[in-house]
Amino acid sequence: MAKRTSYSFEFFPPKDAEGEARLWAAMTGLEALHPDFISVTYGAGGSTRDRTIAITSHITERTKIPTVAHLTCVGSTKTELIEILGKYREAGITSILALRGDPVGGPSAPWSTTPGGFDHADQLVELASELGGFSIGVAAFPDGHPASGGDFEKDIDVLIKKESLGATFATTQFFFEVDRWRKLVDRLSARGSTLPIIAGILPVTNVKQLSRMSELGGTAIPDSIMKRFLAVEDDSEAVRALGVEIATDLCQKLLAEGVPGIHFYTMNSSTATREIYENLGVSR
Ligand SMILES: Cc1cc2nc3c(=O)[nH]c(=O)nc-3n(C[C@H](O)[C@H](O)[C@H](O)COP(=O)(O)OP(=O)(O)OC[C@H]3O[C@@H](n4cnc5c(N)ncnc54)[C@H](O)[C@@H]3O)c2cc1C
Repeated sequence: MAKRTSYSFEFFPPKDAEGEARLWAAMTGLEALHPDFISVTYGAGGSTRDRTIAITSHITERTKIPTVAHLTCVGSTKTELIEILGKYREAGITSILALRGDPVGGPSAPWSTTPGGFDHADQLVELASELGGFSIGVAAFPDGHPASGGDFEKDIDVLIKKESLGATFATTQFFFEVDRWRKLVDRLSARGSTLPIIAGILPVTNVKQLSRMSELGGTAIPDSIMKRFLAVEDDSEAVRALGVEIATDLCQKLLAEGVPGIHFYTMNSSTATREIYENLGVSR
C-alpha cells in the first residue's frame, strides 16, 4: 500500500511578545489540521538558539505534535554543537533538520570557517548520527543550491552522502515548478537513494518578501508567475488569493506525482495554509 502523504508546518521563533502572540494564534488555527510534524527554524548565526529550543519544546508540550528543531553550523564549534544537541535531547526533541546555515552575507557569500567547527552540513549529520537518538533531516534544493554554481550533480552527491551518514528525510527549499522536484527525485533514485523528498511550499502573501526570499534561497520564479504577482502587487488581498491559488495548483501536481510530504512555510500565519488545505480537500 502506498504511504500516506505527510503534511507539516514551519514556524520561526518569535522575537517579542507580539510575535509570540501571533505564533500561538497561527498554531491554534493550524493545530486543528492535525499536521504530522511542526518544524522550528534556527536564526542566522545561531541567534535564536535558546528561543528555538524553548519554542520547540513548548510546542511539543502544548500541542503533542511531533517537532523538528533546525540546527546550523554557523558560528559554533563542534563542542558547542554537541552541547546544543544535548539541550535538544533534554527538551525532549528527537528530530532535527541538520543544516550548514548561511554566512552573514547570504547563501552565495564566501563561507567563513569557525575554528573547531564544521564547514558543511554532512559533518553535522554525521555528528548527530553518532550521538544517536535523533531522526535527521536535511535541506534539498529543486532549483539547485545557490552556492553550487548550477552544478546539480554536486547537490545530488551531497544528498547521497548525507543519506549514507544517517539522514532519513529531506525538505526542499520552496519552488514553483513540479518538474524541478521530479528531476531531483529522479536523479536521486537513479543513484539508489530512497531519501523521501518532502516538498517545501511557500504560500506567497507579499511580493517584496517573495523576491527577497527567492534571491536568498536560489528559487527561480517563472516569468509567468512573477507577472501575475506584479499585476496585483499593491492589493494585498489579491496577492494572498493568488498565492493560495498557485500553491494549491503546485500541491495538486505534486500529489499526482506521489510526493511523500508537503511542508508549508507558514511565516507564522495560518490563513493561507488553511485555505490551501481546504482547496486540496485534506481531511484527517
Ligand atoms: C528546508 C530548509 C530549512 C532551512 N532552515 C534554516 C534555518 O532554520 N536556519 C538557517 O540559518 N538556514 C536555514 N536554511 C538555509 C540553509 O542553511 C542554507 O540554504 C545553506 O546555504 C545550505 O545549507 P545546507 O545544509 O544545504 O549546506 P551544505 O550541505 O553544507 O551545502 C552548502 C554548499 O556546499 C556544498 N557542499 C556540501 N557538502 C560539501 C562537502 N562535503 N564538500 C564540498 N562542498 C559541499 C553544497 O553543494 C552547497 O553548494 C534552510 C534551508 C532549507 C532548504
